[in-house]
Amino acid sequence: MTIIETDILVLGSGIAGLSFAIKAAKLGKVCIVTKAACAESNTRLAQGGIAGVYGEKDSFKSHIQDTLKAGAGHCDVSAVEMVVKKAPKMINELYEMGVNFNLSQKNKLDLGKEGGHSHNRIVHVDDRSGMAVENILLNKAKENKNITFYEYHFALDFVKKSNKCVGSIVWDIKSDKDIFFKSKITILATGGAGQVYKITTNPPIATGDGIAMAYNSGVKINDMEFVQFHPTSLFHPKANGFLISEALRGFGAELALPDGKPFMNKYHEKGSLAPRDVVSRAIFSEMKKQKSDCMYLNATHLESESLIKNFPSIYSTCLSLGIDITKQLIPIIPAAHYICGGVTTNLHGQTSLDRLYALGEVSCTGLHGANRLASNSLLEGLVFSDSAFRHISNNFDKLKFVDSDFETEVTLEKKNLKSESQIEILSERIKNIMWKYVGIVRNADKLKKALSVIEKSEKIAETLLTKYKKSQKLIELRNLIITSKIIINAALKRKNSLGTHFIEKIK
Ligand SMILES: Cc1cc2nc3c(=O)[nH]c(=O)nc-3n(C[C@H](O)[C@H](O)[C@H](O)COP(=O)(O)OP(=O)(O)OC[C@H]3O[C@@H](n4cnc5c(N)ncnc54)[C@H](O)[C@@H]3O)c2cc1C
Repeated sequence: MTIIETDILVLGSGIAGLSFAIKAAKLGKVCIVTKAACAESNTRLAQGGIAGVYGEKDSFKSHIQDTLKAGAGHCDVSAVEMVVKKAPKMINELYEMGVNFNLSQKNKLDLGKEGGHSHNRIVHVDDRSGMAVENILLNKAKENKNITFYEYHFALDFVKKSNKCVGSIVWDIKSDKDIFFKSKITILATGGAGQVYKITTNPPIATGDGIAMAYNSGVKINDMEFVQFHPTSLFHPKANGFLISEALRGFGAELALPDGKPFMNKYHEKGSLAPRDVVSRAIFSEMKKQKSDCMYLNATHLESESLIKNFPSIYSTCLSLGIDITKQLIPIIPAAHYICGGVTTNLHGQTSLDRLYALGEVSCTGLHGANRLASNSLLEGLVFSDSAFRHISNNFDKLKFVDSDFETEVTLEKKNLKSESQIEILSERIKNIMWKYVGIVRNADKLKKALSVIEKSEKIAETLLTKYKKSQKLIELRNLIITSKIIINAALKRKNSLGTHFIEKIK
């Protein structure tokens, strides 16, 4: 097996991996391994923006309280305080790198509002904030001579030596070769797992790979029962989970019944801007009552010109699907959006495995608790990357490569799978069962039923993995199964509702 030695190995090229790599390149050679084209990420799709205290009437205390309230008392207060207080510095760094955040007429940062926030505090670039950030970070990383990108390279598992992470086995998808990336420090920044659900806002890369890798290596994972469902993904056969940002509701759009009548006020005092879990459940309940496949978002009463100016991407995407948001109701449905749990870390991003750090959505830092406050996750990626960089810098000079006695396993020649249809059927089955039984409203019977279906699929997948050569879909199926089981088992352990984890009372 080929061995590539690098001081620091970064798995993933979203906001967490890139912002860390740019700083870490001061310490030595950095390799970024990423399983698709490097821009493919959840980061790229982020619309609303990044939360930070800039408003005159706003305060750290208020942002901290909003985060704790959304997290339903399950957050780590020290993580919340650290992230909120570092937010302006991190956002300023992005601005200085060239992210062209929207400015108000007074030439100050334009601040949007989203659900659960008591003040306007969302720094944004129109409704394409993630794309703007990802592009700038990618450009910065690509021009750095200490950083090498490995696109279409799939991280499979960690290599361990006496409870130290000494690197990762990575599959070069195009040449179908395995590589051992040997590193002094490994950064897991592989993002989320929305693809375990049938309906999700996440792109195809979000298959829980990092969670599965951590699980396989016995690394501590927490809070996986807390899956955030975004209330408003576009309901259209060609929408692919396209998100209608909460910022649109912050701008005045309202959730509505098919006849255009608003309904959120009977569910929460904040109406359409209630916390995401409340809004998602309200939509589901109205869909049931109305026997409808979706609910609606009404922006028709808003001034057309400023609507189009502020939400160019939402406007043009909807229009391309035949929906003019200035004149028509927008059909919406909740969708799996964000995994609040993940690989457990301390305030430096360190995991339970020495020399392995987890950053961004794959991590569980304690910031989000049982429910994430809108626009806190890009921020989490930035703050924890900075914190991990500082921590690693402290004694990086003294770190040596650990000699691993890792040897290439002699693998038996395996056959190519003739068709991937069996893998596709299994993946679909898992996504459907997760959506139906492990979704917005749960109960123990549903969870147990889902577990038994997934365990049956797991047996078939194991046979495929032993008999046939690996393919991307097959490895992703393995990871979807592991991640789904972790979510279900965590959900089964938590008997009462908390945050995004809602247990229905059976009469
Ligand atoms: C539609 C949408 C809108 C959002 N809007 C906002 C918002 O406005 N504000 C906000 O704060 N948050 C928002 N979020 C959440 C936020 O975008 C993500 O939580 C955040 O971008 C995660 O960043 P990350 O770097 O951890 O992961 P990602 O950006 O998802 O990057 C993960 C990277 O890891 C790579 N990878 C995955 N598996 C492997 C593997 N096995 N081997 C190698 N590479 C791998 C991927 O290809 C990718 O490059 C939104 C999310 C979505 C989906």
